[in-house]
Amino acid sequence: MIVFNLTCSNDHPFEGWFSSAADFEQQRKSALLSCPVCGSNRVNKALHAPYVNTGGTHQPAERERQTKGEAKQYANVGDELSQLIEHLIANTDDVGDAFPEEARKIHYQEAPERKIRGNASREEVKDLREEGIEVMALPIPRHLLGKRH
Ligand SMILES: [Zn+2]
Repeated sequence: MIVFNLTCSNDHPFEGWFSSAADFEQQRKSALLSCPVCGSNRVNKALHAPYVNTGGTHQPAERERQTKGEAKQYANVGDELSQLIEHLIANTDDVGDAFPEEARKIHYQEAPERKIRGNASREEVKDLREEGIEVMALPIPRHLLGKRH
């Protein structure tokens, strides 16, 4: 599973999950990809996006199944994606820019295990993954980011 940072023709940033680079190209060519904000089918690879940590390292099989399910939804963005994002925002703690630090604390059991969301750079996410911490990238439209539960 790979994640691409994407933008639409109106410069809305979002992300997409694909089984391979070829999968991305195929979905893009067949116009299956669309911007979660404006619905534009003109999608290109770009930079930067928010991230969500899926929690601890238990039950990898279950998480993998979830990831696959979500990946499917991302290919057909729209109401389903919006609902997924609303669900995630309602069920995660927003730790903002402290995300990499909090993710580590949870991983090393220095903080209670819970689902968090926040911001991290590509580099920070790479470091977290190298430490074995599961980090999930999400195509959260900007207008949903400010929401608090
Ligand atoms: Zn757009």
